[in-house]
Amino acid sequence: MTQSTNENIINWQEVGEETITHLRGLLRLDTRNPPGNEVRAAEYLHALFEAEGFSGEIVGPSQERGTFIARLKGDGSAPPLLLMSHTDVVAVEPERWTHDPFSADIADGFIYGRGALDMKQMVTMEAMTMLLLKRAGVRLKRDVIYMAAADEECGGHEGAGWVVENYPVLIQAEYALNEGGGSGFEINGRRYYPVQTAEKGTVRFRIRTHGRPGHGSIPHDENAILKLAAILAKFAPDLLPVHFTNTLRGYITGIASTQPSNIAQALHAMLTDETTADAAVDRLPLEEALKERIHAMLRNTVTPTVLKAGSQINVIPSEAEALIDGRNLPGWTPDMVLEELRAVLGNEAEIAFLDPSTPLEADLQSPLFNSIKDVLKEHDPEATAIPYLQTGGTDAKHVTKLGTKVYGFAPGLYAGEGEGRRVHSHDERVSVRLLQWGVRVLYEVVERFASGA
Ligand SMILES: [Zn+2]
Repeated sequence: MTQSTNENIINWQEVGEETITHLRGLLRLDTRNPPGNEVRAAEYLHALFEAEGFSGEIVGPSQERGTFIARLKGDGSAPPLLLMSHTDVVAVEPERWTHDPFSADIADGFIYGRGALDMKQMVTMEAMTMLLLKRAGVRLKRDVIYMAAADEECGGHEGAGWVVENYPVLIQAEYALNEGGGSGFEINGRRYYPVQTAEKGTVRFRIRTHGRPGHGSIPHDENAILKLAAILAKFAPDLLPVHFTNTLRGYITGIASTQPSNIAQALHAMLTDETTADAAVDRLPLEEALKERIHAMLRNTVTPTVLKAGSQINVIPSEAEALIDGRNLPGWTPDMVLEELRAVLGNEAEIAFLDPSTPLEADLQSPLFNSIKDVLKEHDPEATAIPYLQTGGTDAKHVTKLGTKVYGFAPGLYAGEGEGRRVHSHDERVSVRLLQWGVRVLYEVVERFASGA
């Protein structure tokens, strides 16, 4: 393995401390979306970059919704790499936290704050990577572009989506590193780092039923609510059939590669037949939460989340509707999902899609993925890097419109069972060790990949 010459002159202890300082600075800025106010973070980053000789810029649809972008030039012999992140965070219930969510308190080796894992830690690690590349004067083949975007948590149309629509030239890149993977986890004591290579799209829709209105005291069987209820009763988690994707295959075989032979065999058996895969997953001696996740990765999913019908207790309404959070696999269009749905629901329900987004899948064999694997092998030799299908959505859906191959990798050392479940929850926190380790891994991936060493 070629070791970078620049590593020798980087004091990683100091870089770790700088990373902590800037993460805490960003966590103290309230960028809850809505309303966002991400310009606070954009200005913080702008000042940080400017002090190091970068000329970055803040762009966006309004003053408050700033996205910060900066670029480090390479020699142009290879196309750019984009380091992307988002600076907005989700809401908090402060009374349920043991530390103020905007104080960035440090306790027991963790930094607390909304955004500590999603994803101001990556905003900071990517920023540090930019500064370190510049300080070390690394000779880059690729430009490295930095984008800390607004609005990801509410769809990204005022952030990454806006940049893609209005200033694509600022972020046009061949590859990108994003959130969505990178956090180490363990299964039976074996450690894995998921690298997000695929992301589901959204195929959200509304189901509406019509019936005969009337007086609540005289029941009849053309009640719109009862018609809707009959349809929704079919929406079990495994409503739609299994389809293997490349990423799912890579994920399962990657896990199997270091598991004891009985579990490895069961995992491989699962991949032999789509029609029996669910039953095979149920039999796996793995945690229920992981199995639920695998079931979701296996198929297009449809989950009822909102119901609307009626307005008065003594009136039978003429209409009822449900909103369904649908998520489609790479390669599946809304029309293809609709066909699958009709096959199990029949034709009676009125189905209308709401603003679908396209699912994505990047190549499992790419130079960027290889750089990630190589660097991880050096920093955690026992662990395995595996491709991962994100069931939720990220800003990758916008950036891939420019042809960019997006990989989710926010490197995080395994910090203990359940740490990842703090994302969007109470007491979100990131371990100091994770941050120190992560910034080094991220820097080395970027340095190696963008300099072509
Ligand atoms: Zn996020």
